[in-house]
Amino acid sequence: MRIINLSSGSDGNLTYLESDHAKVLIDAGLSCNEIVKRLGLLSVRPEEINAIFLTHEHTDHTKGVDIFSGKYNTPVFAHEKVWTTFDQKANRISSLNRKTFDKAFSFSDLDILPVEIPHDVPCFGYSFFQNDKKISILTDLGHTNDRILNSIANSQLVYLEANYDKEMLMKGTKYPLSLKMRISGPNGHLSNEDSYNALEYLVSTGTRQVVLSHLSKENNTPDLAYDYMCEHLLMQGIEEGVDVKIDVASTRPGVFFRLK
Ligand SMILES: [Zn+2]
Ligand SMILES: [Zn+2]
Repeated sequence: MRIINLSSGSDGNLTYLESDHAKVLIDAGLSCNEIVKRLGLLSVRPEEINAIFLTHEHTDHTKGVDIFSGKYNTPVFAHEKVWTTFDQKANRISSLNRKTFDKAFSFSDLDILPVEIPHDVPCFGYSFFQNDKKISILTDLGHTNDRILNSIANSQLVYLEANYDKEMLMKGTKYPLSLKMRISGPNGHLSNEDSYNALEYLVSTGTRQVVLSHLSKENNTPDLAYDYMCEHLLMQGIEEGVDVKIDVASTRPGVFFRLK
């Protein structure tokens, strides 16, 4: 599999994944035009996209999906619970292209395990499997638990939310208290601290590449999140760049990872 994050964060989320026989998107949170432009950077035409997998209905994950699917006749996969919340906003997606799943399923040569995660609307992470390789995407969740962590364990590569620094969130003056409580609540987003706990577990299961994702523009910085992870890993004798590699996703296209 090959994978690249093309945009991450509250301005829009878009990830491109390619297997031997499929080219898919995870979320489509940029405008249709912008999605086409970013696929162009990879020399991928929009007609080549075989499917879009949605995590949840928030606009930063779905902004362009309706127009993209309508224009290029692309199947869109989402859990029934996600369709329930998203249905009204998706009138260009034909009934034939509305695909649903309940548990693990296959698409082309990919095996896919959806993982329900706690957010303020129905939300799913995904693990993708091909040829003994496993890639997981886990963003927009208020907390982790054993069920979630077990689902993504043993992934070679994980896109893992590190949304906010607790102090920046609480001391910031832009957000009202109610929003701060929602973000930091059990159905909001993962803090750097929560993300670290998941990261430490993942490394113990063999994960060797983590991309910190969905960072808040207001309440986190790439350096802060990266340094937090490195410092805490080092306290456990785990060295970034030696035992595990950590990147930080942004609103710009990131690194193209190839797992063979
Ligand atoms: Zn989001
Ligand atoms: Zn969300």
